[in-house]
Amino acid sequence: MMNVVPHPYDTLIPPGYVNLMGLIKKSTVNGPGCRAVVWVQGCDRACPGCFNPASWPFEINQLVSIEEIVETVLSEPSHEGITFSGGEPFWQAPALAEVARRIKAAGLNVMSFTGFTLEALQRQDAPTGAADLLAQLDLLIDGPYVQTQAIHDPTSPVSSRNQRVRVLNSALRDRITWASDQIEIHVLKDGSRIVTGYLGSLDPDGSWGRKIP
Ligand code: SF4
Repeated sequence: MMNVVPHPYDTLIPPGYVNLMGLIKKSTVNGPGCRAVVWVQGCDRACPGCFNPASWPFEINQLVSIEEIVETVLSEPSHEGITFSGGEPFWQAPALAEVARRIKAAGLNVMSFTGFTLEALQRQDAPTGAADLLAQLDLLIDGPYVQTQAIHDPTSPVSSRNQRVRVLNSALRDRITWASDQIEIHVLKDGSRIVTGYLGSLDPDGSWGRKIP
């Protein structure tokens, strides 16, 4: 029997917190309906063409409590749910599972992207808490972005052909309505912007999904 080896990141983040790269309150290009999106900090895959290389370092960026994330999502009556993106959400699976549990208790749905395959997440050597997070998810987009298999199609919910939409809650089977080949630009009160969605040909400096000064 193989034991889960704790990732060094497991001890860097205080219990009850998620280390974020960013959060937006409303998006319609990161899952079904209008939803909040959190991008977690930390990913070790270094995929060529990654939309979000600033999310790679495993270092403390922005610690936000589980309570604050849940309150942010539930404070928006138009929200259908939340999407976890990254970075790699499954390196922070225990805290995100708790976020998901509380959001689902309020009747909303939860989706996550991951660079792991579903099969890898179901193995005994998956990241700590992976099974708990999987049990909470309604939708999972699994597999890393593979630049040589990129899809530029306004009807595709995934960005490269190796990725799969895993419907873990059959009630959402008809809700695969978003398209990855779209962008949103969010202008914040301080004048800064967050750009999210597929941006490969628009923004070569990799400013996807983070604040642009
Ligand atoms: S798994 Fe995702 S976040 Fe990580 S390097 Fe690949 S594309 Fe970027």
